This record gives sequence, structure tokens and C-alpha cells, in this order.
Amino acid sequence: MAIQWFPGHMHLTKKAIQERIKDIDVVIELLDARLPGSSANPMLAELTSGKPGLKVLNKQDLADPARTALWLAHYNALPATRALALDASEATPARRLIQACHELAPGRAGMAKPMRVLICGIPNVGKSTLINTLTGKRAAKTGDEAGITKLEQRIALADDFYLYDTPGVLWPRIIVARSGYNLAASGAIGRNAFDEEEVALELLGYLTRHYPGAPAARYSVDVAGLTDEQLLQAIGRKRGAVQSGGRVNLQKAAEIVIYDLRAANLGRITLETPEEFAAWLAEGQKV
Ligand code: GDP
Repeated sequence: MAIQWFPGHMHLTKKAIQERIKDIDVVIELLDARLPGSSANPMLAELTSGKPGLKVLNKQDLADPARTALWLAHYNALPATRALALDASEATPARRLIQACHELAPGRAGMAKPMRVLICGIPNVGKSTLINTLTGKRAAKTGDEAGITKLEQRIALADDFYLYDTPGVLWPRIIVARSGYNLAASGAIGRNAFDEEEVALELLGYLTRHYPGAPAARYSVDVAGLTDEQLLQAIGRKRGAVQSGGRVNLQKAAEIVIYDLRAANLGRITLETPEEFAAWLAEGQKV
């Protein structure tokens, strides 16, 4: 069963973005480098069309570098769009962001025409962490689960460069089934909104096809010939997720797999390529 998640009404955020967008020169969209397509909010694309866009693939430290390169090339080929990859270890990301924005809106510079940039991203993508880095504050209110921090502020990155945080929360909008699984696996949607076992099985299916060495190395199991369910069973057994009577606790096993993905214990993994994401959209397996 596909994940359906509608955590809150989007119309307030929509209205607020609509009001602000007319005074904005560049829209930065923060994406999760492990799932760039799925972590984009399609409503944002509609609301900001016509504005130059900077796609920031965040958490690149967790993502597959070869696939990050594919996504960067994909976005850089779009009109009025630039892309760069970042992670929280970059101590001074401002310079790269400022430069990319100036390339996108070359007319905006100087005190009379300051650059005005809106930064957007779904919860948990790392927006607070990045804003804290940009403002030189210690990360105060970051959390592992979706929807922990909400701040709204204007940040001056230079005398003639203002960054505006998104007014409201830009919840993810799941438009294809795979996006739901990828968002759940990444930690972008609330724990109560999905079934861990289902998400882990989907994840293991994807890993078996694209990163077969990852579960094999992490759990010392031979993945060849196993169904996803058998693989989850084998992982549970290896990791001691066993109930009385010797049955594998699949829920526990699923939590282990999801935790290991989020902690990059399975290696640097990206859950979708630009080509795959386009195919999912085209297949029309809409939720
Ligand atoms: P927000 O909801 O978009 O404001 O996200 P947060 O800034 O609260 O970050 C969500 C989680 O992701 C926190 O646990 C952060 O420590 C973590 N995080 C943020 N940026 C990065 C990054 O570049 N790499 C990694 N590995 N984790 C990050």
C-alpha cells in the first residue's frame, strides 16, 4: 500500500510564498541529495516558476557521489537553474551560494538593488542547520524527525544580499509511490505515518538491485536469490531481532535497516537517479 501523508494544510504556506515571491530574485530549494526528486515539493515549482532557481543538494556526505553528479548535471541543464551540492561539514557555504545567485540574477547587486533570495525546503532536509551555519550560530534546534524546527527570518549574508526563510512549513507532497518510500526511509516524514516493515522491504528491494554489496557488507548475508522478505528475515536473525519461539521480529529488523540507511552505515546511497525519477512520473503510478 502506498504511503499517503497529508500532515497539514498547505494553503497558508502557499499564500505566504505567493505574497513574498514577487520581491524575490532567486529561489533556493534545498533538496536531500539522497532523493532529490522526491524531496522537491511540486507546489513550490508552480509557485516560483519564472524565478531563477538554485537547487542545493544537501547532505551530500550521505549520498552516492556518482549519482549526485548526475543530479547536478540534470539541474544545471534546466533553464534559469543552477545546482550545487553541500553538507553540514562545509564551514563557510555562503560564498558558493552567493556566487551562484549572482550568476542566476546578474542584475542584482549593490545597496540600491540588493539580492533577495528565498530559501525553501521540506522538513528535515537540513535548512535550520544551514541557516545556523550561515548566521554563525550553533545548531540549536535541529532534530532527526520531520517538523522539529520552524524559523522565519531575514538573514543578511552581505550588505547587498538578503536571504529569506520560507514562511510556513513546506510539507513534502508525495506524487508517486516510490517517493513516499524514499521520504519515509530518509526520515522526512513522521514515524507514525508509515509502516516500517513495508518501507524496509521496499528499501531492501532497491538496494538489492542497485547496491547489492551494501546489505551483504553490513549484515554479512548473501543476498543472492533471496526475496526482500527473506533478506529482512536474514538481517533480523543476524542482528538478534528474534522473538521468543525463534521467530524474527520483522518490525525490529525493519527499524535496524532504516536506521542504518539514515546513519550511512550501509554506505553512501542515493535512492533515485534523474532517469528513474522521470520514469516513475511517466509510469503514472500516482498515489
Ligand atoms: P530542517 O527541518 O530542514 O530545518 O532540518 P534540520 O536542520 O533540523 O536537520 C535535520 C537533521 O539532518 C538533523 O539531524 C541534522 O543534524 C541533519 N543534517 C543537516 N544537514 C546535514 C548534512 O549536511 N549531513 C548530514 N549527515 N546530516 C545533516
